[in-house]
Amino acid sequence: MNHFVSTNGELFCEQVSVAEIARDVETPFYLYSKATLTRHFQAFDSAFAGIDHLTCFAVKACSNIAILNLFSGLGSGADIVSGGELYRALTAGVDPQRIIYSGVGKTEQELHYALEAGILLFNVESSQELERLQQVAAAKGVKAPVSFRVNPDVDPQTHAYISTGLAKNKFGIPIDEALELYERAMGMENIEVKGVSCHIGSQLTLISPFIESLRKVKIFVERLTAKGITIDFIDLGGGVGITYDTEQPPHPRDYAEAIKQELQGFKATLILEPGRVIVGNAAILVTEVQYTKSNRGTEQVKKFVVVDAAMNDLTRPSLYGAYHAIVPVLEKGAECEVVDIVGPICETGDFLAKDRELPRVEQGDLLAVMSAGAYGFSMSSNYNSRPRVAEVLVDGSHYEIIRRRETFESLVQGETIPGGVRHGH
Ligand SMILES: *Cc1c(COP(=O)(O)O)cnc(C)c1O
Repeated sequence: MNHFVSTNGELFCEQVSVAEIARDVETPFYLYSKATLTRHFQAFDSAFAGIDHLTCFAVKACSNIAILNLFSGLGSGADIVSGGELYRALTAGVDPQRIIYSGVGKTEQELHYALEAGILLFNVESSQELERLQQVAAAKGVKAPVSFRVNPDVDPQTHAYISTGLAKNKFGIPIDEALELYERAMGMENIEVKGVSCHIGSQLTLISPFIESLRKVKIFVERLTAKGITIDFIDLGGGVGITYDTEQPPHPRDYAEAIKQELQGFKATLILEPGRVIVGNAAILVTEVQYTKSNRGTEQVKKFVVVDAAMNDLTRPSLYGAYHAIVPVLEKGAECEVVDIVGPICETGDFLAKDRELPRVEQGDLLAVMSAGAYGFSMSSNYNSRPRVAEVLVDGSHYEIIRRRETFESLVQGETIPGGVRHGH
């Protein structure tokens, strides 16, 4: 359930007309609903009521500090994967003791920064990372709190690019090798062993892979306990899917129930790292039709709707062939036709939808690309020297720009011409 609803043929975000915002901020822009963000966070977090847990929103899904600040106010921590995300989380006011740091490639500077900030946990993904963390912590004279990310070798049955818990993926430490690493870490002066973590993938529509990996983790924790290694935190990662098209992902309530069932008798604090399930359906990308055209081939006529948003603004269709529903902001009762909805970028891969039924649109019409809140703006780039779009947050009958549209000046910020001389005619 979200707060993007059409009333009398006009799309609203909460109580504000989307077309009205478009007139004010111009297109394209991402539009977030505060009520939806809040509702989704609370639905997820409250599903785990009754067991000791910490929900750490996965910053990479949606990184705007206004949104991180909103979640922080609702009790969320942050799951970060870079120094930049740590900076964002701290700037947004997230308590460092609710921040956990995941990722296979943490640099020395990043480890240093996170130790300085005093985060809750490092999810270590290799023995070399452990050695480096020990060195950096020793140089600072502190102890680094550590979980190891184990790779349970479970198939999440999702898109290959977003499967992370298979032995062939780059993530985590094979569960059979992890025991030795825990024992080594126990002997390290500046390492404090605290937990076990795993994350098997994204956009999962089944509960069973989560349970399968949790069972493997449980057996592993029992082996650790037998060796006298205490585990305070069990981190199950993120990955619950959402409905983009016809998917039927589990409700967070059922996901939580299944996990709570499995964890009976375990004393550790449960950590969760949801991203997509919280923000995915809480935003849309609003774009304006620039041109319509048809290319007549020998066998068929192909119709294109060229809009002002592109693969640099929303990468998922090009990157994963992902489906996003696309609807007119103002319904005019036009009949449907089958079109490709494409952007202005000079790549054939630049599309938002292919062979899609859409009511006939014309130049100047607004379209809403639905379910764009997760891995939307946060994956956007400046490709084709396109300034990144504005982000707008609606709260009831008000809206606010939470990130200004970039300007041409911001495109070249930090660039210099050697010698400072501008050659020209
Ligand atoms: C991406 C990621 C998440 C969030 O995944 P969602 O599918 O958005 O819930 C959580 N944890 C880790 C380690 C990740 O890499």
